Amino acid sequence: TRTHDEEDLPHATKKTMADHLRKYESLFTLTPQRMRMIVDAFRETLELGLAKPKQTVPMIPTFVFGWPNGQEVGDLLAVDLGGTNLRVCLVTLQGEGKFEITQTKYRLTEEQKQEDGQKLFDFCAECLKTFVETHLADEASGLKLQPGEKLPLGFTFSYPCSQERIDHGELIRWTKGFGAANTEGQDVAEMFRKSLAKYDLPVELTALINDTTGTLIASHYVNPKTKIAVIFGTGCNAAYMENVGAIPKIKNLGIDDDASMAINCEWGAFDSFEHEHLPRTKYDVIVDESSNKPGEQAFEKLISGRYLGEILRLVICELIDEGVLFLGQNTYKLEVPYVLDTAFLSLMESDPTDELLMIIGIFTHFFAVETTLAERQFFRALAKLIGRRAARLSACGIAAIVSKMDYLEEGCLVGADGSLYNKYPGFADRVHEGLVDIFGDKGRNIVTHHAEDGSGVGSAIIAAMTKTRKAAGLY
Ligand code: BGC
Ligand code: MG
Repeated sequence: TRTHDEEDLPHATKKTMADHLRKYESLFTLTPQRMRMIVDAFRETLELGLAKPKQTVPMIPTFVFGWPNGQEVGDLLAVDLGGTNLRVCLVTLQGEGKFEITQTKYRLTEEQKQEDGQKLFDFCAECLKTFVETHLADEASGLKLQPGEKLPLGFTFSYPCSQERIDHGELIRWTKGFGAANTEGQDVAEMFRKSLAKYDLPVELTALINDTTGTLIASHYVNPKTKIAVIFGTGCNAAYMENVGAIPKIKNLGIDDDASMAINCEWGAFDSFEHEHLPRTKYDVIVDESSNKPGEQAFEKLISGRYLGEILRLVICELIDEGVLFLGQNTYKLEVPYVLDTAFLSLMESDPTDELLMIIGIFTHFFAVETTLAERQFFRALAKLIGRRAARLSACGIAAIVSKMDYLEEGCLVGADGSLYNKYPGFADRVHEGLVDIFGDKGRNIVTHHAEDGSGVGSAIIAAMTKTRKAAGLY
């Protein structure tokens, strides 16, 4: 029997919120046993990608041969086209693992992500032009060019591209919500060169690289114990250094088996289309099916910053529909896809007040709804479940590479970058906990650390390495 008091309550009571939470706990929690199963399947997938071309997880040979020696020097430019921003950087490599960087950031508009691809690259070239002119005019920046001299340019393009050389890459598919036309299937390095020519820039595009590959090389430049790099940002992906002999699909290129080459895994595609290994909830299925690329990037959609807020929003919307939350309030602002940014989850988790005042602020200010303390505690707990699941799944991916490369005993560092890794409270700790759940105590041998600006500095180091190799008549 219900008491009069309960009937009068405008919002869900503490007890019902706790009941609901239990349900979500079981949906979003990953047991160590389940994680180990995912690691095994993941490892097989990585091996398949190395063995055969055109696999779902493509394990892309990057033509970045081996580690930098730390002595790379010079002025280099980098253009970084990421999921959210465009960045132009001037990097001065000083040797001994040291560098200086000057950069300008531009926010990409939704239209630019969807309009014609060549226009997007024209915009990149235009920004580069402004940047170069500013710095050539500025004595203090130290950038001086001899007549006819061209600066090496690294182009960090953080989408899956299959490469035949370091300065080439065919876009396999857009990810992270991009959809620019006439670009998939094209050589994006060539497209960018076309744009650079229009603006008559004193640069030479020497390397097309993925952000993970850049991060791998940059973190190693600074700390040689780094063997793997991972990006946890708008998208999610990893790169590591492989022995050429262990990449059967490039046997015909005649590269020395003993050489090493960085592999851009494109692991965000793990379990795409088939969905047989990852624990997807119905919210994940909705995120997938309403995306511009249904079926694709299945692993990434459970982990990356582009999607975590949306997963939480879908749970909230379900409870609104069921009449559990916000009864009698107008919730239209919460009903818009992707309004709940992953940054809100970070804020919810880090609210230090007993009353959860920051969460009150988020819901009143951005969504014009009032919350009870019980609801706020529920939202925070949900954020924690979703954030924790993302970190534990990430640990599975790292563990798959570690076990494939046999790095567990000797241990290794994992260079990591991206908004989720850098800003989400406790994300790194949860990845580390996950590694211990998978490997036991030895999991502590695998340690992530914040990487040194891989997509800028890494791109520049690779451009420098390429220049040296070319001068020596190598690939
Ligand atoms: C892309 C990768 C990239 C990752 C992180 C993914 O969506 O496919 O190429 O490395 O995002 O930026
Ligand atoms: Mg980026």
